[in-house]
Amino acid sequence: MATTTSFNPPTRILMGPGPSGAHPRVLKAMTAPILGHLDPEFLRIMDDCNDMLRDVMGTTNRITLATPGTGTSGMEAAVMNLVEPGDRVVVGICGYFGERIAVMAERAGGQVTRVQTAWGSPTDLAGVEAAVRAAGNVKLLGIVHAETSTGAQTPVEPFAKLAKESGALLLVDCVTSLGGVPVTVDAWGADAVYSGTQKCLSAPPGMAPLTMSPRAWDAVKAREVPCNSWYLDLSLLEAYWDERRAYHHTAPISMVYALHEALALVLDEGLERRWARHEQNGRALQAGLEAMGLVLHADPGYRLPVLTTVRIPDGVNDAEVRGALLDRNSIEIGGGLGDLRARVWRIGLMGESSTPGNVLLVLNSLGKILREQGFKADIRAAVDTAAAGLDA
Ligand SMILES: *Cc1c(COP(=O)(O)O)cnc(C)c1O
Repeated sequence: MATTTSFNPPTRILMGPGPSGAHPRVLKAMTAPILGHLDPEFLRIMDDCNDMLRDVMGTTNRITLATPGTGTSGMEAAVMNLVEPGDRVVVGICGYFGERIAVMAERAGGQVTRVQTAWGSPTDLAGVEAAVRAAGNVKLLGIVHAETSTGAQTPVEPFAKLAKESGALLLVDCVTSLGGVPVTVDAWGADAVYSGTQKCLSAPPGMAPLTMSPRAWDAVKAREVPCNSWYLDLSLLEAYWDERRAYHHTAPISMVYALHEALALVLDEGLERRWARHEQNGRALQAGLEAMGLVLHADPGYRLPVLTTVRIPDGVNDAEVRGALLDRNSIEIGGGLGDLRARVWRIGLMGESSTPGNVLLVLNSLGKILREQGFKADIRAAVDTAAAGLDA
């Protein structure tokens, strides 16, 4: 017999690489009655979402919407619509997600050049520049703004300049940065930018904000062969999200409510204030971890405030520590991905999860568990140092 009792999940403190905790107003919005996907009231909030997304993403691009599906759907929509068979693509890879862009571009039939940088450093500009020149006639240059796998941030402007000079379009993955660190699409001069609802926007996983510059949209419209994906074909999606309202798929109604509420919360807080909050909490956590005696993994000067990678000390058991944090403190942090598996922890301070209380709690809880594991964590120094940063 299948169980028929309802599921009552524990309340976790989500401090991993995503999802982050959702604001109660966002969860409440999801319990609102379902509307038809062509109901005028529903269409109105879809339009509101697009307007708010433009503000949050720093763009006036007409093509600004949210694709159905998690952050990866935004990546796939951007790549599949912009890359045609034979197109030259250069991807700057400094972690797990850059590689995912490259794999998708290959699946779209692109001729892909990968420029690899050590995991923990920002994407190497000189290397990408050389690859773009060597390849010639590059259609798309892809980078990841905030590499969630490594905790490193890549400054976007120099890549936008390079793309412009070489006639390429610039694709930027902002899944982890949007709503947490400055994302200014038009000021950067980026052409295709996508994100996800579940990181610093603090809505549940399920949609992916996406924007395209007029130049990128011209490239989509000039395709000789249709996009490889039907579901994420932006020409079809656009006809649903714009005034034509042509049925394409049934919008994930409750997720659109959630996105709408989450974006309203971001704009109510104010982008500058929100960025400053993430910055302060992230730097306090990082200073606290160092004061505890731990070593941060990402290059100084390029550390993301929203996702901190910290090295696992020798002799400490990765899974036991994360398990104890979850069992005893109900705190989730992330393990390492790919090359960094069992070498780092990933501690997120995204959206609703980015609070001074969470900074102090994770330092105290992690410190105690590390001491049981034989690592001499200086908990007092960690908490005092972080608290000083939070007071500043
Ligand atoms: C999380 C993440 C993704 C993928 O998003 P999903 O919501 O897991 O599909 C892509 N890029 C980056 C940088 C991410 O952090």
